[in-house]
Amino acid sequence: MTVMPPNDTVLTPQETARLRALDARHHMHPFSDQAALAAQGARIFTRAKGCYLWDSEGRRYLDGMAGLWCVQVGYGREELVEAAARTMRDLSYYNTFFQCSHPYATELAARIAEKTPKGLDYVMFAGSGSEANDTALKMARFYWTARGEPNRQWVVARVRAYHGVTLAAASVSGLEPMYAQFGNPVIPTLRMMAPYWYGPGIEGGMSPDEFGLTAARQIEKAIEAAGPGKIGTMIAEPIQGAGGLLIPPDTYWPEVQRLCAEHDILLIADEVVSGFGRTGHWFGSQLFDIQPDIMTMAKGLTSGYVPMSATVMGPKVADAVRNAGTEVAHGYTYSGHPVTAAVALANLEVIEREGLVERVRDDIGPYFQEQLRTLSGLPHVGEIRGVGLLGAIELVRETEPRRFFDPLGRMGLAVRNHATANGLIMRAVGDTLILSPPFVISHAEVDELIALARKAILAGADDYAGGRIQGLPR
Ligand SMILES: *Cc1c(COP(=O)(O)O)cnc(C)c1O
Repeated sequence: MTVMPPNDTVLTPQETARLRALDARHHMHPFSDQAALAAQGARIFTRAKGCYLWDSEGRRYLDGMAGLWCVQVGYGREELVEAAARTMRDLSYYNTFFQCSHPYATELAARIAEKTPKGLDYVMFAGSGSEANDTALKMARFYWTARGEPNRQWVVARVRAYHGVTLAAASVSGLEPMYAQFGNPVIPTLRMMAPYWYGPGIEGGMSPDEFGLTAARQIEKAIEAAGPGKIGTMIAEPIQGAGGLLIPPDTYWPEVQRLCAEHDILLIADEVVSGFGRTGHWFGSQLFDIQPDIMTMAKGLTSGYVPMSATVMGPKVADAVRNAGTEVAHGYTYSGHPVTAAVALANLEVIEREGLVERVRDDIGPYFQEQLRTLSGLPHVGEIRGVGLLGAIELVRETEPRRFFDPLGRMGLAVRNHATANGLIMRAVGDTLILSPPFVISHAEVDELIALARKAILAGADDYAGGRIQGLPR
């Protein structure tokens, strides 16, 4: 679809070609096959407003992913722009080392503490979700050392988890290429099964509730495997995002929480995707009634306008830090950066004033979920799952009984490519299509999104029936 953007951000074909050539030569992209990218040329975005993006050739896209799950308040909000500009003029930078602070970081820490579950009220800032998780894992080590149990360095994590790419965050993530390419995890980690009912749950012939308990009780197997006095910490996303939007059965979180308490394991909730209203609650921990010891957050904290993240500690860890009797040797040059903190405050102000969390919970979230489920009769649609403004469509070769495509991932990619060509940005994780639109998406835009997704799924099914998907035999 070619819709001209509202102002002049269309580049000449020569200019687009020049940028693509420079990009191929000099720019390493995250999680990309660089050779394939260079051959095709990057899609170059030049403008964004509300829920739409425009590329350098003037094509418009409905952003069904809110960037990378982060643009809660939509693109181009003047209030956030103003906050950044004003703060850059007033206090372009100062650090929070050496007993210094500034109103922005202080106010933001207090605002975050208001929103998190009770007791989680001590905040350390960083620049990305990976760094926030790195901080959380370090603070867990700090806690166990302070408690006189320095051997409890093992971490329980999960298959299909995504916690980021620093050496520590990658160690506890559960996406295989992350170790195949970079060597063994640096943090001793035991990975348990993900609460992915549509996968192993069905294979085990279990109901979702039975499977939720089985998946949770893998903690006990991990404890056994590590040996006594080794496991100190568990890290988990309330809803696994990049692993395919895995929403645990109702029985899962209460059992995980119970087992962590019973075995005195610190629980880190990675709220980088599930935080700041995405599920219709401020945090995923509140949706599932989880009481973590540490929470990490990033993406929605600033709606992606500037990079910032936070690690929020509950009383156990906070007390250990407060009573350390010495300086805690951790912190980043940009911890609590005034500009990013000011943008985060403006972002939270918009979310609150416009009642966006309530909107996701009571209005646009339920509407989106209802419309998403109208796709369930389409060919190859196996499971549709979602909550709030998170949605996933898992495609399978056959639905009854469920049989995945072999190899995995080709169908998802084919459908995603159709969507992109038609002006909808979705993400494919294997054969699961993921949606996570901005909170300001209108009912009409949800209708447009669902219509474009439907069209892409039908086109993919057609390709498959015609044997036209490369590498995927009919
Ligand atoms: C994106 C993400 C991260 C990593 O955040 P970065 O800012 O990319 O370092 C960590 N955890 C989850 C759940 C994420 O989705």
